[in-house]
Amino acid sequence: MSLASGGGQTDQYLCVQKHVEYIKNLDSRRDELEYWLTEHLRLNGIYWGLTALHLLGCPQALPREDTINFVLSCQRENGGFGAAPGHDAHMLYTVSAVQILVMLDAVDELEKRGLGGKQKVGSFIAGLQDKETGSFMGDEWGELDTRFLYGAFNALSLLGLLDTIDVPKAVAYVQKCENLDGGYGIHPGAESHSGQVFTCVGALAIAGRLDLINKDRLGGWLSERQVDNGGFNGRPEKLEDACYSWWVGASLAMIDKLHWINGDKLAAFILRCQDPENGGFGDRPGNMVDVFHTHFALAGLSLLGYDGVEEVDPV
Ligand SMILES: [Zn+2]
Repeated sequence: MSLASGGGQTDQYLCVQKHVEYIKNLDSRRDELEYWLTEHLRLNGIYWGLTALHLLGCPQALPREDTINFVLSCQRENGGFGAAPGHDAHMLYTVSAVQILVMLDAVDELEKRGLGGKQKVGSFIAGLQDKETGSFMGDEWGELDTRFLYGAFNALSLLGLLDTIDVPKAVAYVQKCENLDGGYGIHPGAESHSGQVFTCVGALAIAGRLDLINKDRLGGWLSERQVDNGGFNGRPEKLEDACYSWWVGASLAMIDKLHWINGDKLAAFILRCQDPENGGFGDRPGNMVDVFHTHFALAGLSLLGYDGVEEVDPV
């Protein structure tokens, strides 16, 4: 089904080749300050760039072998991955590492060249589950966050190791994060936020427990995130942002309510966020582009079935 097939009500076209060039060139700007300021995001950045290239139909645009080598160079003794070589292991980078290796069909490299194979990676992630609540920490320092819970579910299911954690306990924790407005917060009692909704709905989808969601109530709250110019905000009274095209859109798709929003208006908003000259997307029209928003903007277009963008799995 195509909610926004090429053009339609949109006043811009997707500049595919400009975006591919933008992403390919990110790694050749090592002399620029910005590159080093974002070192703490390096592994995530590769995941966002690589996924965006897949969505644009150019998965080969990054050198496969170099990418695998870099990912493996970020692994630590405990099996987890840091953002860059020498950085401490953390859930978020470990998830990105697993996702990149899966996309490159290179999980086997963990057995050949990694530290202890995929079992070791799985045990790092499983070791971050809080025995009392069932939720997950990002690292040994212990902050609990539904983002980490979703990340654990995502990476472990990709590795075929979901049975190494207490899934029912984690599912019960997600249920406690549900609010009366239908949304989910970062922990029980915290206000609803679209990013957290995505992580909670995604975790329930992976666990096969979407039946626990009040889909009408959540679908209503999510569709109210669309503002007049077509974009989504993360919660009431906040500004729209291209990345919420994904957090809100994927959540709606997982509960089969994506048709509750105006797809043409959303596609038009996303396209206005692109830099048609130098490639990339920003959070709002006219703002600086970055690889994070480039990835989530394209993923949003993909959910809408936009022409020229590969189909994405919302989970
Ligand atoms: Zn954003």
